[in-house]
Formats: sequence, structure tokens, C-alpha cells
Amino acid sequence: MSYVANAQRYESMNYRRSGKSGLKLPLISLGLWHNFGDVDSLANAREMVRTAFDLGITHFDLANNYGPSAGSAEETFGEILAKDMRPYRDELVISTKAGYYMWPGPYGEWGSRKTMLASLDQSLQRMKLDYVDIFYSHRPDPHTPLEETMMALDHAVRQGKALYVAISNYNVEDTKRAMDILKQLGTPLLIHQTPYSMFNRQVEDGLLAQLDDGGAGFIAYSPLAQGLLTNRYLHGVPADSRAASEHSPFLHTKDITEQKLAQIKQLQQIAEERGQSLAQLALSWVLHDERVTSVIIGASKASQIAENCQVVDQVSFTEEHLTRIEAILSN
Ligand code: NDP
Repeated sequence: MSYVANAQRYESMNYRRSGKSGLKLPLISLGLWHNFGDVDSLANAREMVRTAFDLGITHFDLANNYGPSAGSAEETFGEILAKDMRPYRDELVISTKAGYYMWPGPYGEWGSRKTMLASLDQSLQRMKLDYVDIFYSHRPDPHTPLEETMMALDHAVRQGKALYVAISNYNVEDTKRAMDILKQLGTPLLIHQTPYSMFNRQVEDGLLAQLDDGGAGFIAYSPLAQGLLTNRYLHGVPADSRAASEHSPFLHTKDITEQKLAQIKQLQQIAEERGQSLAQLALSWVLHDERVTSVIIGASKASQIAENCQVVDQVSFTEEHLTRIEAILSN
């Protein structure tokens, strides 16, 4: 049956401006790194995208290599766009990235102009799009001049194949240089994407301040620490979880240590006091810093997306809860 979006979709979500740009993003964005590949169920992927959009999630985050197989998440998304979302293209912010290994030979990865622009063309073909909203350099390339990578991003905008440019996984120093180069080129940095969660706080080393000073936004990936900061692993490792999946490159059963479990259980207590689930607590905690434009969640089921979207009206904390969370995380 053809899809008609929920008429109330903009009533429950909140939106924040990305830095000093004109673009607003939903507090919760949906990432397609896991569970959208050709090894996964298309019907489930379709249900997740529809549910997200019905709840006001306008931003969908992809990359050339998401799958598995690499590229297949973009193909899946292209199929869902064609079936369900075409009438809503102007309500969507779609991002993709280039930089990680994608095809053999010297041009299939990293940050040369050759790689970046060829990869973007491939992504557009897979998603059957004329343009993406945000095009990212997925990781810094130590062997390509930063100017070349940034000029490739700028060129994508001038070609009309991207509306905004962004970087991911860059350190504070490279971020500052990238921002300066892009400003000179006339295509300012829209946003920076790195991990940020209660279990990974590296951005507090000055990156958030740097972006804020320069007028760029920040979008957090893996805000649930890939599922650790949820009720998923409180009673063992479920067979359908990411930690148990053969396709999970980074989260494995051995990562669920006794120390992490003890912290998770104490955080669960605070979540209950706030009337939230642990996943909701973890997302609220990242979003309580207003310099965070959005969090990109992953999901394996539509119900997780619905649960996570409920945080948008509960992102503030009492000093007492913040202090107790700090104490738990320092254990
Ligand atoms: P999360 O930390 O949000 O982890 C998502 C996982 O958490 C889900 O797959 C699910 O696990 C579990 N989960 C989500 N909601 C709930 C809930 N309410 N209750 C219980 N479990 C829940 O993010 P990801 O690590 O998936 O990353 C999100 C996105 O960030 C990616 O899709 C990608 O777009 C982006 N990203 C970017 C990177 C980069 O280099 N730029 C690197 C990594 C991610 P389960 O599957 O077990 O159900």
C-alpha cells in the first residue's frame, strides 16, 4: 500500500540549528550503518524509515560503505525513497560520506579529489538522487593535503551535487584548519560528526568549543555506545543484538565487561528516577549540551526509534543527577 506520512509528524519533534547555518536538524537523526544492508530485511528497514519520518525525523545519515555489503545501505535507502518518500524529498536531509575503503586500487579510499568526487557520484547513483543535502569527508587523510579534500567538498557544492559540507572523525587541530580552508572557499563547514556518549567523551577535549566558536554544528554518532547504554545487555547478550551479530565490526560480547555492566545498572537507577528508559537517559544526557545539534541513533526495530524520540521534551537535568552520573562514570 502506498505510504502517506503522519500529518502530525512535526508536532512531537524539536529541531536545532546547525551552528550558525540556516539548516535545522531534528534532535534525533537516524543512521543507516547497521540493519539496512542487503543481508537485512528490506521490510524492516522500510518500516524503520517510515516510523522515523512519521515521528519528525527528517535527517537520515548514510555513507558510501554502509551495508554489508558495502554500498547496499544506500541502495536500500534509494529503494525506500522511490517507494515511499519521493513526495517528501524537500522535507528530508540526506547525508553521505566518502573516505573509508570502497573499491580496489589507489582511488577507492581516503581523501583525494579523485576519490571524493567519484564516490559521491556512486552514492547518488545508488540512492537514485540528484543531490545529497550533506556531503562528508568521513575521515582525515594524512597523505592528502587538507586543502585538496576541502576543495573537493566545495566542488561538490558548486556542482549542485551537495548542499552543505561536513567532516567526521577529525581531531581539534585538523578541524580548525578545515574550517579556515572552507571559509576561504566560501562553503563553510556545516557540521562535524564524531562519537559522543556517556561512555565516550573525547569531544569534551576542546572539539565542541572549537565548533561552537567557529559557528559549526556538532552531531553525535553512537550516542548509545552501540546499544551498551540501553537495557539490551542487562541480562545477558540477546541473540538478535548487535554484540551477537556476525556483521558487527566493533561491538562484541567481550566489550560488555563487568565494569560496564555495573555502570549500566547504576545508570538504569537514575533513568528510573527520571521516568525514562536507559536509552532515553543516555540520549538526553548528550542532548543537554545545547552545542550538540542532533544525535544519530541506530536501530534494529521501529519500536526502538519510537522509544528514543520520546526524549525530546526531557533533555534537561538536575545538578544532583548530573553529579551522580559523573560519579558513576568515574568508577
Ligand atoms: P547507537 O549508539 O544509537 O546504537 C544503536 C543500537 O542501539 C541499535 O542498533 C540497537 O541495538 C540499540 N538500541 C537503539 N535504541 C534502543 C532502545 N530504545 N532500546 C534498546 N536498544 C536500543 O548508534 P550506532 O552505533 O548505530 O550509530 C548510529 C549512526 O551513527 C550510524 O548508523 C551512522 O549513521 C553513524 N555513525 C557514523 C560513524 C562515522 O565514522 N562517521 C561511525 C559510526 C556510526 P541492537 O541492534 O542490538 O538492537
